[in-house]
Amino acid sequence: MIVGDLKPLEEIVFTITEFRKVLILGCGSCVTVCLSGGEREARELARELAHIRHYKGDPPVFRVGSILRQCEQDLVAAYQEIPPETDAILSLACGAGVQTLADAFEPLPVLPALNTTFFGASNEPGVWREVCQGCGDCVLSFTGGVCPVARCAKSLFNGPCGGSQNGSCEVDKYTPCAWALIYYRLKKQNKLHLLDELHFSKDWQPGGGAGPRKRVRTGIGGSAGD
Ligand code: SF4
Ligand code: SF4
Repeated sequence: MIVGDLKPLEEIVFTITEFRKVLILGCGSCVTVCLSGGEREARELARELAHIRHYKGDPPVFRVGSILRQCEQDLVAAYQEIPPETDAILSLACGAGVQTLADAFEPLPVLPALNTTFFGASNEPGVWREVCQGCGDCVLSFTGGVCPVARCAKSLFNGPCGGSQNGSCEVDKYTPCAWALIYYRLKKQNKLHLLDELHFSKDWQPGGGAGPRKRVRTGIGGSAGD
């Protein structure tokens, strides 16, 4: 899932201060799960932003809503509840959601309330860790299901650096060394031979090196010419 963090309040106030009627829109998917951008967080943010102490004059008037997935044009287009005279939308979605809203409601300004941070997974309550960078050429089949791109601080590809100590990463002793995790996972799987095998060079181009990426699925509306 995509993990995001609320921007500093002063930054949000600075971006909305010129507007009088602001619609705050939560997103009902990833950012709801990681407790940063759902409808509840949108209501809490509206309460905080309505406080007069943030402004020299009167605060803007806030309305709050939510869209199940702001990154899907159909769901955005079905949202009919933009109050009249709204002069800006403050989105609590990831960057994909903010841009989908901006396209759909152009020329209405759509402002991000979150910093989109990473693709994460949760293995304990309230904690999400980065596990994938969407590199486009997944190597998990020969790294024991541990991603060296996202989970090694240096994205090393051929084993640990010299700083790996007792299973910890040299950049932070509380972070496991990804290559130690890979080694011990493969050992448990009796697959250590995978570390000795030569693999095709990783193709970094699908990771974004060739410009913005796009995926077209024919048969559900997409066509080869899209
Ligand atoms: S190898 Fe690439 S696609 Fe696979 S988990 Fe890592 S970053 Fe994600
Ligand atoms: S200690 Fe391990 S995880 Fe940290 S940078 Fe070196 S190889 Fe990567």
